[in-house]
Formats: sequence, structure tokens, C-alpha cells
Amino acid sequence: PKKIIVVGGVAGGMSVAARCRRLDESAEILVLDRGRDVSFSNCALPFHLSGIVPDSDSLVLSTPAIFAARYNIEARVRNEVTSIDRVAKTIAVTNLDSGDSYHEAYDVLVLSPGAVPLRPTIPGADAPHVFTVRDVVDIDRLKKHIDQPHVTDVVVVGGGYIGLEVTENLVLAGKKVTMVEMRDRVMMRLDSDIVQLLHRELHDRGVRLVLNDALTKVGEDSVTVQSGASYAGQAVVMAIGVRPETTLAVEAGLQIGTTGGIVVDGHYRTSDSSIYAVGDAIEVFNQLTHKPSRLAMAGPAQRQARAAADHIYGMSQRQTGVIGSAVVRVFEQTAASTGLTEDECRAENMSFDKVYIIGDDMVGLMPDSAAMHVKLLFEVPTGRILGAQAVGPGNVDKRVDVIATLIMMGGTLEDMRDLELCYSPMYSTAKDVVNNAALVGLNILNKVYSQVTIGDVRRLIVEEDATIVDVREPHEYAAGHIKGALNIPLSEFRERLDEFPRDEPFYVHCRIGQRSYNVVRALNQLGFPNAVNIGGSFLGFCNH
Ligand code: FAD
Repeated sequence: PKKIIVVGGVAGGMSVAARCRRLDESAEILVLDRGRDVSFSNCALPFHLSGIVPDSDSLVLSTPAIFAARYNIEARVRNEVTSIDRVAKTIAVTNLDSGDSYHEAYDVLVLSPGAVPLRPTIPGADAPHVFTVRDVVDIDRLKKHIDQPHVTDVVVVGGGYIGLEVTENLVLAGKKVTMVEMRDRVMMRLDSDIVQLLHRELHDRGVRLVLNDALTKVGEDSVTVQSGASYAGQAVVMAIGVRPETTLAVEAGLQIGTTGGIVVDGHYRTSDSSIYAVGDAIEVFNQLTHKPSRLAMAGPAQRQARAAADHIYGMSQRQTGVIGSAVVRVFEQTAASTGLTEDECRAENMSFDKVYIIGDDMVGLMPDSAAMHVKLLFEVPTGRILGAQAVGPGNVDKRVDVIATLIMMGGTLEDMRDLELCYSPMYSTAKDVVNNAALVGLNILNKVYSQVTIGDVRRLIVEEDATIVDVREPHEYAAGHIKGALNIPLSEFRERLDEFPRDEPFYVHCRIGQRSYNVVRALNQLGFPNAVNIGGSFLGFCNH
């Protein structure tokens, strides 16, 4: 029988082990993990801080005893693999409790060691009240610390999805949270226009959001940032990203890629054909850029694990590459993204254009109806969908998942327009916001009208002194408007044509972009080719 050893017993590792058992009842399968637990829910860890997951034991989904009894898989926790001898096909292991070291021989070795949370090299970064979140032991320690009465303020460093989830759960636990992010926004997988909705949500929930500033020092009950400001915090959570856990692979001489992850082929074999690698530690292939990249997400780790196990048993799965789909909840808002962002399209020198629309997530008469902001990036002139982002309180994930499916299948704006999606008033609208985004995209691709998006408006006003026309009704205008905007409502514009500039471009908006679209289309036909719609409109601009 084959002897398969798996390093790392969580998302990727346990999936490889379980699939191997299903494929081969006779194999000897040994999983080694240096941590206290195997098979825990990394993704649910932050939710213990608020008590949404009340009992941290429930984060551990299965135990070595269950794996042994049900699947005949031996899982040894607190056993660290310290080196690989590729010639002898053995590994060295240290039992972290007894301190004993021993060797194990393998026929096939699978590495799924995950990724290590980064810590900045600044004074105080290793203080006992500075935490990272990777496993159940980490979250237990953090929870115990924040439950002390003197811990009223917490600083979360890093605005990625782990930082955001930790922040939300700390606020729900009654803590005052300051989030420090060195870039200009949280969630780099959202563009700087649509992400403003999350910034507002954080602000509205009392989170102090410090952007464009980096942590320089951790003190006993406060932190200092580069600009010189300091913020109270009797606990500091570092969520500034992860690096692939490659120590074993590097020491064993396995090939490491330009992104720092372990290089694998289309079957997740490393540069040694007896050693496979999956999960956060590897370098993946991006389907859209055709370049190596890294993606620390659980879904891809699981898929890679199954493909690796299949290949160990002579079956090959096609290699699709990754597109990077992600979702996060930030209090009442859900934000999801898939494919490339604008920054990424630009970095790749892609020829692309974009749609920013605000639609109803369900029929407006329904009590829970709310606005959903959707941004879509597509290739010009093919119309191939390159990426999508959406934010709103409704089922944003469903919309972005539909678009992710299209991207995976090479779909275009026309495919997206023609999608026949489920509809009932409490779920969506008859012309779903996904179909609508495609229609707008086709209008832009086919140059039916011109648009700018809300991200451009400030520059147009400040640098170009451009004319902005607001076509909402006077009472809406009175309640708040862009400074200097002309108010010519949709219901009156045909009688007031002489008020629009004749010879220069002007930019038209309403509340969500629908009325302004109608006005722009009409004006274009009435001798105003310079009328330009503002995608994202007033609602989008308000968050900007
Ligand atoms: P892990 O699941 O991290 O497992 C690696 C294991 O290897 C660890 O237990 C480690 O102890 C062990 N190990 C490492 N080196 C050795 C060694 N030398 N010897 C023995 N054992 C070793 N992804 C999503 O898609 N959605 C989410 O919502 C989401 N939320 C997350 C929230 C948090 C707080 C965290 C930390 C992660 C989250 N992720 C999420 C990411 C997801 O958990 C990872 O992508 C996934 O777990 C990667 O699987 P893996 O097997 O590569 O690594």
C-alpha cells in the first residue's frame, strides 16, 4: 500500500487526506500538524470575538479521534515537520510536547502548511498585547485578553477582510476600535470609488478609520503612526497580510516562484514529482492575467486538494487557474469582488472600460429593498467580462457569484445581458441588476452614449471647472447637491434646452443614474453630443 504523508491538517491538508482515503482504502495516510487542532474553521475565527460563535470548541470541526475512527486516517497534532530528505523520501518530525524527534518514510508527500501572518518590525510589535489571528489558540488568547475590563480600546492594523471581520466583531463586543491602514482604502479587492461605501459604514458604526498612515510603534496602551498621531489601544490585532509558509520547501530545495509561493504544475506537483503542494503556500495561475499570483482563500485550497489527490491516483483534472472571488460583511453592508480590479487592469495594460450602476436589490415595494452598487469591468472591444465588485445590504454575493461564473467561462457582456436569472419581488427585480450592468456596459462598448464615473467628478469640478447638471426634482436638489450643479429636472429639460452648454462637454447626474441616462440619450439626439452621463450618480458621489 501507498504511504501518503500530509503536512498541515486544516483546509487543504485534511481535504487531500480525506479524498485519498475515498480513492484508496488500503493507503496508509498520516497527517502531521504542529498546531493544537486539525480541521478547524479558520474563516469563522473572528466571529468568536463577538459571541456569534459562542464556544471556541465548536470552531474545531473534527478531531484526530474522529479521523481515525471514521476514515482510518492518523492525524498527529503538535507534531512539527522540520525537514524533508527528498533522496531518502523521509521527513524529520519533532513532537512538540515530548521534544522527541523521529523520521517517517513516504511514497507521496503533500504540503499544505498555509501562510504565516505578517508582523511589522517596529518597536513593541512582539508585546504580549499584540495579536495575530490564525488558529483557535490565537482567537482564544485574544478573546480572553479583550474580555478583561481594562481593555476598552482595540487597534486593528490592516483593512483586509480579516481586519474588517475582526473589527466588526470587536465593535459588536462593545470595544472602541481604531483601524489603521497604510493604503488609501480598506479591501484592496475593491476599487477606490465603490469602497467608499465600506468607509462610510465603518465610520457610521463608530470605527475610527485611519487611512494612508502606517503603524510605527506599539506602546503599552496606545499605538503611534507615521504622521505622529497616537491612538488608544490596550490590545492590538495585526492583520497586515500573510506570507506563504515555505520554510520546509525552501530547505528541501523545491522551486519557489517569483511571488514567493511554492511552484506547482497543473496537477499541484512541486519540482519534485513525489511532493505535491496546495493551499496558501503555493503560487497559483491567474486565469485573467496569465501570470503567477498568490491567493490565500479556502475555496481554491479545497479544489487544489481534490485535484492533487486525484492526480496521486492517476486521474487528472483540468487546470482553470484562479480569478480571485471574495466576500466580506462589514456590519450592514456586504462587499464582494471577483476577477480583476481597475488597478490590476491598468497594471496589465489591458484595454478595458467600466460600468458603475446603482440598482435595487429587490423590488422597491418590498420592505427590505435597498440600493446595490455594482461595478463591472470589461475588455474593449471584445466585451469579455474582466471583473466585478458590488456593495450593499442585500444578496451581493449572489450577484457577484453569477458574474464569477461568467468570468470562469470566458463570458461577455452579451452573455451577461442574456442570463435568465431567478426573479420574485423579494429576491431581485425582473431585469436584475446583473442584466442591467451588462446593458449599460453594452451601451458604453457600442458608444451609444458617453460616461464618466463618480471617481472622476471631483477632478472635473476642481481641475476643469466642468458644468455638472443635476436632473433630479427641485426638492431633491434642495435636500443636498453637488456644489455649483445646475438643476434642470427630467420633467422640464425639453423646455429648458437653451440652458445646456452647446460647445463644451457637460456631465449629467440624478440619484442613481437612470434619469440622467434618459436625459443624456435624449440630449444626444437633440443636438447635444457633448452630454455625458455620470455613472454612479449622486448616491455614489455622496459616499465619495
Ligand atoms: P491552513 O488551513 O492554514 O493549514 C495549514 C496548517 O499547516 C496549519 O494548521 C499549520 O499549523 C500547519 N503547519 C504549517 N507548517 C507545518 C509544519 N512544518 N509541520 C506541521 N504542520 C505545519 N478564506 C476564505 O475563502 N474565506 C474566508 O472567509 C476566510 N476567512 C478567514 C479568516 C481568518 C481569520 C483566517 C486566518 C483565514 C481565512 N480564510 C478565508 C483563509 C483560509 O482559511 C485559508 O485560505 C485556508 O485555510 C488555507 O488552507 P491551507 O491548508 O493552505 O492552510
